[in-house]
Amino acid sequence: MLQLVEPEALRGTLLAWFDRCRRDLPWRRTEDPYEILVAEIMLQQTRSEVVATRYRGFLDRFPRVGALAEARVESVEAAWSGLGYYRRARNLHRAARILVERRTLPASAAEWAELPGIGAYTSALLASRCSGEASPVLDGNVERVLSRFLASAEPPRRAAARRRLLATAARLLDGSRPGDSNQALMEVGSLVCRRGAPDCGACPLAPGCLAFRSRELDPRAFPVAGPRRAREVRHCFTAVVQRGGELLLHRRPGDADWLAGRWHLPTVELASGDEPVRAAEVLGREFGGCWECDEPAVMVRHAVTYRDFLVRAAVARWRTERRPDESTGDRVPAEGSALAWFGREEIEGLPTSSLLRKTLDTVGVTLDSVGVNCADPPIHSGP
Ligand code: SF4
Repeated sequence: MLQLVEPEALRGTLLAWFDRCRRDLPWRRTEDPYEILVAEIMLQQTRSEVVATRYRGFLDRFPRVGALAEARVESVEAAWSGLGYYRRARNLHRAARILVERRTLPASAAEWAELPGIGAYTSALLASRCSGEASPVLDGNVERVLSRFLASAEPPRRAAARRRLLATAARLLDGSRPGDSNQALMEVGSLVCRRGAPDCGACPLAPGCLAFRSRELDPRAFPVAGPRRAREVRHCFTAVVQRGGELLLHRRPGDADWLAGRWHLPTVELASGDEPVRAAEVLGREFGGCWECDEPAVMVRHAVTYRDFLVRAAVARWRTERRPDESTGDRVPAEGSALAWFGREEIEGLPTSSLLRKTLDTVGVTLDSVGVNCADPPIHSGP
């Protein structure tokens, strides 16, 4: 019969391995809860290599939680540039304001989870690192490691499987160093128990790992895949409108289900075969003013989790129906439309997405061809 080492007996081995092998990442050199919070929010949907290039710059700009709380959300979004998923920047900003108002740090995972943008995983990690709570974490890496460790026959997203994985993570957690224990398990997933090529010979968990120790099992068969969610296809039409050296952009609503809160080219959803004249009609209804659209250039495909956005992009012209404001010339967007004209330098400081450049490329407009200087600051409608 196969003898496996119990998880509790592996705590010391796991921590010793972490002390020896862990990567030197900037957010591991600090014990400051604010700096840890910033890192963990950045790491939620962005690879650590990318976060490493942005983290220090963000903290230089907002060195303390008070500085972040006092900043305008637009400045926070600009400093977030390059990390994507700007909703996180807005949540971090709101969290900073709440922390400043409360004047006290959360003392447990439950209290961390009360802050915006902080779910079960992040709150557990923050509690273990900042509050010394023995709260185990389960991210994608840990799910893979523990699914193999237990040779779990269930997809890790199922509630019962999650409970088992979390219970095992708790058994591996050393209460005297909970933050390091959690990071060690995640680091095993990043460096050793890799998706396609687990290096079991170098793994501190090997003596207790069922998938490795059993002769009949292949660790790569875990975690077991769950049913795939059907992909949803959405058809969109995007208008590329230039005026002099400026580009017309639209600030998407903060609760939009894609590109939320980001500046993008005016875009509407249409049926797949709709003509440009129909697109102009819908653009007018959504953004105000009169629109004229050319035949669309090739289609841009943009995947967001389980959704595929098929975007037809076309050069277009837009006329506001409002009389130009005397003090600002005709840089006035249609009332309530959240449209604004921007020059290239301004665009580079805005929260945008890779889809902006991709779309411009397809219609033959590069950001370099958009003007460098604007005589006036951009004018945004709405709040
Ligand atoms: S022994 Fe192999 S399969 Fe098991 S946790 Fe370690 S690397 Fe993963």
